[in-house]
Amino acid sequence: MARLTQADLADLNQTFEERTPQELISWAKEIFGDRVASISAMQEAGAAVCHMIHTTGVDIPVIFVDTGVMFQETLETRDRIRDEYGLNVISLHPELTMEEQTEKYGVLYVTPEGQQQCCNMRKVEPLAAISGQYDALIGSLRRSEGGRRESCPILMVDIPTNTVRINPLAVMEDDALQAYLTEHKVITNPLHRQGYTTIGCNRCTTPVLPNEPKRAGRWRHLGPWSVYCGINPTDRDQTNSPAIDLPQDLVDRILGRMTDFMI
Ligand code: SF4
Repeated sequence: MARLTQADLADLNQTFEERTPQELISWAKEIFGDRVASISAMQEAGAAVCHMIHTTGVDIPVIFVDTGVMFQETLETRDRIRDEYGLNVISLHPELTMEEQTEKYGVLYVTPEGQQQCCNMRKVEPLAAISGQYDALIGSLRRSEGGRRESCPILMVDIPTNTVRINPLAVMEDDALQAYLTEHKVITNPLHRQGYTTIGCNRCTTPVLPNEPKRAGRWRHLGPWSVYCGINPTDRDQTNSPAIDLPQDLVDRILGRMTDFMI
């Protein structure tokens, strides 16, 4: 095994600023083969990535973390994307149902500490449970989301899942995303048209007013200090020099130390 640090990815990230999302998705498939998956909560940006995987024609599964308390509209969006785009959508589930969790721990999501515990059990742990199956995960984070994502790199190392996280939409602005969704008639969650700018669990998501920040509808009941679940590396406090361990030949391919796979 070899260490791959965030610093190792700096030059590649610089080069990839000029790549299209579709080129980045193709690069991911070429480098990681069957060891790459996409992860999507079936929100607008995630739906765009699913559509790009579909139109690019690459065989990349899509992981959906089903917390057991998702909106019905989200589940129906997942199923439509699976069926109409012909994607292999893999739903992950927490160990306990929400009822079992509440019986054991009480209603957690009503306090900041409980929210972190609940998100950990229902989102972070199900994803961590499949670590080892994949070396790379394609997400849909964008810098124009602001907050902790405003400087998100295209490639970043993620310690809990020991994967390279690939954000092919990192440079895509809001207008460009909306234009893509409209032009390609991408399947999107109908809740977006009812004032839900971002969509998570039904316990912790509300619509937002036109003058509110996009993420104001997430954990509104907790105030402004709980705005992320921690499933994405941008949203956590990473160490100063994060690193993961991957096979040496894979690290060589990622960093372009061989020449037959560069895009
Ligand atoms: S968003 Fe709310 S209900 Fe969902 S896992 Fe996090 S705290 Fe629990």
